Amino acid sequence: MTTASIPADPAAQRLAAVRDAMRRAARLTDRSADDIRLIAVSKTHDADAIRPLIAAGQRVFGENRVQESQQKWPALREAQEDIELHLVGQLQSNKAAEAVALFDVIHGLDRPSLLTALARAMDGEGRRVPCFIQVNIGAEEQKGGCPIADTPALIAAARDADIPILGLMCVPPADVEPAPFFALLAKMAREEGLERLSMGMSGDYETAIMLGATDIRVGTALFGERPAPARPVPGSGRGMIRNSGG
Ligand SMILES: *Cc1c(COP(=O)(O)O)cnc(C)c1O
Repeated sequence: MTTASIPADPAAQRLAAVRDAMRRAARLTDRSADDIRLIAVSKTHDADAIRPLIAAGQRVFGENRVQESQQKWPALREAQEDIELHLVGQLQSNKAAEAVALFDVIHGLDRPSLLTALARAMDGEGRRVPCFIQVNIGAEEQKGGCPIADTPALIAAARDADIPILGLMCVPPADVEPAPFFALLAKMAREEGLERLSMGMSGDYETAIMLGATDIRVGTALFGERPAPARPVPGSGRGMIRNSGG
């Protein structure tokens, strides 16, 4: 083994390792890694942590909060114009216009009210932002995502509203084998004639690739562990949150 091709920068090393693993997983299923988009999920990481990855050639990034992205990305994009920015988290309807103005792809379209808000925002901004429909693939009560049974109707409504739908997205239940959920999402996408599948994170992106992922969302494996949030952010929750504090 020669060390000549191993990059010195830790961010570049992590990127190279993820790209290697992507190639191996793709090869096992006769796919090309070139057909799989690596979204570097940079949420909670500041510009100083992001720049080395850009310098190493990474161009596609993901964030999960509109406000945090508005603070970080305009300056980074000024320095590197061909950045593609994805919103991978939950989106509140009242942030739809800001999201449409800032992001190139939105992964969390999961309900009719958000669809209406996004359609209006896209009309207002004069910009059609392609979306993934997020599916609540494990039928988890507290999780975002469209119920499986309601997904075909949401896809049809998005098409009626002239919102470009790229494919389906999911976050499978934690701590159980994700493969069956990835396979189910792939089957749903096939039935709807949708080509792209946003699935797979740091712990399971190789499995996701072997089951057809076209867009993987990888944070920790590229940036290291995220710092735990100091306190809950007001308004960041979704639906009913059980009060554990009494
Ligand atoms: C944070 C996040 C990721 C990245 O998770 P890692 O485990 O750090 O790779 C992917 N998808 C979504 C929706 C996220 O919120």
